[in-house]
Amino acid sequence: MSEVIEKAEKIAEKMKEDFENSIRSEIEVYPCHTNRASSIGELCLRKLVYMRLNYKETAPVSSSLQKRFGEGILQEPAIEDRLRKMGYELIQKSQLIRIDEANITGTLDDCVALSSEAGRPTEVFPIEIKALTTFICKKITKAEDLNQFGFAKKYLDQGTIYMHGLNAPFMIFVIKDKDSGDINFHHFVYDKERAAGLIEKGKAIDKFVAKKEYPDRLINHPDECDRCWFNHICLPDKQFQGGEIMIDDELIQKIDRHQELKDSYKEYNNLNKELNLILAGKTGIAGGYELTGSWVEKGSYVVKAQKYWNKKIKRF
Ligand code: SF4
Repeated sequence: MSEVIEKAEKIAEKMKEDFENSIRSEIEVYPCHTNRASSIGELCLRKLVYMRLNYKETAPVSSSLQKRFGEGILQEPAIEDRLRKMGYELIQKSQLIRIDEANITGTLDDCVALSSEAGRPTEVFPIEIKALTTFICKKITKAEDLNQFGFAKKYLDQGTIYMHGLNAPFMIFVIKDKDSGDINFHHFVYDKERAAGLIEKGKAIDKFVAKKEYPDRLINHPDECDRCWFNHICLPDKQFQGGEIMIDDELIQKIDRHQELKDSYKEYNNLNKELNLILAGKTGIAGGYELTGSWVEKGSYVVKAQKYWNKKIKRF
């Protein structure tokens, strides 16, 4: 009997190992030549530029995240099947949506076509299918509630792009609670201003990409930066190394002015040194200036030991 237990145990362990390897083998990074509708709602513009210029350096997702992605992908056909069983006709599956002016592309899940009893189509609208945990689902009573969660806010931006591309006045989010199996349906109405903001964002990304330049880093968003796939090349910690956040308008104005004067001060110092050399020992007139001077003897002295703060001010 102990032999059987040992053999069964080994088989179970091997199966677990094969499962983990199989998940890891699915972790891939895809080239990104356009602005993806699913990502356009990302908070950090710099990250979106990295996605275009540095996609090969994307940090691989963890195997636990890959498992969650996999689950989401599996849910989609199951939910579509349920919708068909409910009598809904699904059309335009995986339709490519393209907003040329902002170089944004995305793949819509489906459109639902409602028909009258006579079989005539009465309404066609896009749907997006999402599978979420009970914890999140409980907090969502309307589509706009997705705005509460960074990752889910992007769904609304993605949906906005799809509605814009399809000229659709509304869409339906089909949200399945992965744990309970319950499904909820939330309508989301096209918001022209939200769409315009996303289109401007797409254009801005393309401008940076064309110049191979990067927008500034996010300031003081440690959570966002910690889970960013480009943290290892962006190195946000090198930019802001912690310390006090000083909310002092007067101080900020002084630093602004200090920075404005910096270049002219440098230029003045360089010119001053140059003129010191040219005019040493000379008196006379140049243009509208009378030039005079005198030799100054400098005595030697010992500088007392002292401690001072060597400040550095860097604009981010
Ligand atoms: S690490 Fe932070 S600042 Fe850098 S790209 Fe990612 S989110 Fe943006």
